[in-house]
Amino acid sequence: MNCALEPRKARRLSLVFPIYNEAEGLPYLRREVERWMGEQEERMEMEVVLVDDGSTDASLPFCIDWARDDARIRLVSFSRNFGHQAAVSAGLRYATGDAVVIMDADLQDPLHVVPEMIRRYEEGYDVVYGQRRERRGETFFKKASAWLFYRLLRYCVHRSIPADTGDFRLVSRRCVDIVNAMPEKHRFLRGMFAWIGFPQIAVPYVRDERRFGATKYPLHKMLRFAWTGITSFSSYPIKLVSLLGLCFALFGFAGCLYALVCHMAGLTVQGWTSLICLQALMGGVVLLAIGITGDYVGKIFEELKFRPLYLVEKTFNVEEEDAKR
Ligand code: UDP
Ligand code: MG
Repeated sequence: MNCALEPRKARRLSLVFPIYNEAEGLPYLRREVERWMGEQEERMEMEVVLVDDGSTDASLPFCIDWARDDARIRLVSFSRNFGHQAAVSAGLRYATGDAVVIMDADLQDPLHVVPEMIRRYEEGYDVVYGQRRERRGETFFKKASAWLFYRLLRYCVHRSIPADTGDFRLVSRRCVDIVNAMPEKHRFLRGMFAWIGFPQIAVPYVRDERRFGATKYPLHKMLRFAWTGITSFSSYPIKLVSLLGLCFALFGFAGCLYALVCHMAGLTVQGWTSLICLQALMGGVVLLAIGITGDYVGKIFEELKFRPLYLVEKTFNVEEEDAKR
């Protein structure tokens, strides 16, 4: 165990469920959550935050009934579908627990993993993320694209984004507050949690198959999500353009030399050399210029996220006042 960790007790736990057209599976979710909360009642206080992300089926009436029957159920309903990341962000904002667990409403991320997450939280970890050892009942294509997606993210976005990890995780109050205070609109929560740092650890688990309904992440949504992840966290694609520009410019330069040699050897017709020189150089120069401009745009983008410059975890012999000076 990391000796810098400070053990603590979980007093109040929030379970956050984003819900989009999950009517078929909600009775099962209710049964399972009620049973699980019954088992954990002695240990700590509990609440459930349901975020209805503009469902068009019977999900919302079901959630309203559930919230009427049980005061531990808090319900937030969106005016339309704003997407999974927005729904989870709302859940984080409305949760009041000192530890918050983000889950899927289809219970693909099983509840029986949560006690292990709580144990790690009590050891002092701030983010305890579920890491998939196995994904049951998913197509080869989904498994392969997910595999590629996580490796790509680690490579281009942030080394600390753990592989095979979705949004299923337990987060301490202080980290929830930090992420809530990050105003960026293109939210990619798993990247944001990796970015904030603090003690983090994985809990391996087997991802169950979806029992009811279909996935709400078809291919086009998955691709869009992957693109948001890459572009909202890294200027790698722009750097690639600059690199490409540089390569083209170098090739262009070599092309020019070749054309001049041909010209001097009298092997060309009139006008060929100047045309080739211009053509060979311009492509590279234009790409390079786009890359450099893009780099500035990337920096403006970074600034506009208004992220803190750094986050302090601990201080010793330092007063709050010292930082204000
Ligand atoms: N979800 C949501 N808004 C959306 C899409 C999905 O709130 O626009 C919810 C969905 O109801 C589920 C969770 O986000 O609780 C994850 O979606 P899903 O299970 O379809 O994703 P998968 O597990 O297939 O990647
Ligand atoms: Mg799911």
